[in-house]
Amino acid sequence: MTTSLTAHVSLPTLGIFGGGQLGRMLAQAALPLGIRCAFLENAESSPAAVLGPVFGSGQLAEFQQAVTVLTLEFENTPLTEVDQALTTQLMHPPRIALATAQNRLLEKGLFDRLSIPTPAYRAIQTHRDLQMAVQELGLPLVVKTATGGYDGKGQWVIREASAIPELWQQMQPAVPLIAEAFIAFEREVSIIAVRNQSGEIRCWPLAENHHHQGILSHSIVPAPRSEQLEQQAQAHMSVLMNELQYVGVMTLELFVTANGLLANEMAPRVHNSGHWSIEGAVCSQFENHIRAVADLPLGSTALVQPCVMVNVIGQHPDLAAVLAIPGAHVHFYGKTEREGRKLGHITLMPVPEMTQSQQISALKAILPNKLSLPD
Ligand code: AMP
Repeated sequence: MTTSLTAHVSLPTLGIFGGGQLGRMLAQAALPLGIRCAFLENAESSPAAVLGPVFGSGQLAEFQQAVTVLTLEFENTPLTEVDQALTTQLMHPPRIALATAQNRLLEKGLFDRLSIPTPAYRAIQTHRDLQMAVQELGLPLVVKTATGGYDGKGQWVIREASAIPELWQQMQPAVPLIAEAFIAFEREVSIIAVRNQSGEIRCWPLAENHHHQGILSHSIVPAPRSEQLEQQAQAHMSVLMNELQYVGVMTLELFVTANGLLANEMAPRVHNSGHWSIEGAVCSQFENHIRAVADLPLGSTALVQPCVMVNVIGQHPDLAAVLAIPGAHVHFYGKTEREGRKLGHITLMPVPEMTQSQQISALKAILPNKLSLPD
């Protein structure tokens, strides 16, 4: 008894900023390793609460007391809270990665410095800046809030010069903004990688991502026709992670164009386009993040079998009906239904009795929100 307790004494208790579904799946991966998690989360009900104590931001001191090392699942975690917690604990990934990802201008500046191709952009503070950006980058032009946007929120597309005055009225309260050249991309992909404390980097295969009304609908893994893209994406990822001295899992969202890959944005965390890795990879993004933060050996990021991950958005499908589809793995997050809300995901793994497109059709038939799934 005493021996087994002693054997676990060196394992950390992870303090996770955020207690959403990503925190829940991180804690699910930590559980079999004997690693405990606690969460800092202000929302009234937290999907992660079933897996560990949840502290509100008024309880930051108690949170600090309860944990031995910090990590994050919520990208908009206030830096003031992080700074307070950093007075007593280490955090992986580093603060600089979070601060950079929270500001699109800093993020693009980093891509430029590291020669990672990204859409041409301009910082926008004034109406004049916007007019200059239209002149220099042309139309259509994508304008985004520099901070605070997610899932396509806080974004505008200017298609005609005549629309500028009206759109400026909407945008102006949200300055600072960033204007980006509109990229007529072929498709969108993401690369997810993990870096440990000695600098070893492992990448999962590229995912091809499909969106519906600004939210991820489904990811196909491996991304079709991606051998050459994979090398480019891995090179960008390793430059980025080494520069930031990153520890943990990081995601880079990319546009595929005729001239190669353009980086759209980075996320200093596990990512929706990597949920497939729970069943589809030897070691999932969640477990490898835990391993990196806890300074344990990394697991293999190799693909087990090609698969598709489909998000459940707004309304739950009938559980029994989904489970009746051969190869379907269900992950509900314990959230109440609301339009546009991510409630869960379903991973379709290969089975002998059905093709992947038959599995997708069967799932589409029972999903209340059909998303952008193919027929
Ligand atoms: P983001 O919040 O930057 O991830 O943008 C959300 C979505 O808007 C992306 O997944 C793209 O589909 C689209 N988008 C963002 N930036 C651009 C751009 N510069 N050109 C064309 N589409 C874009």
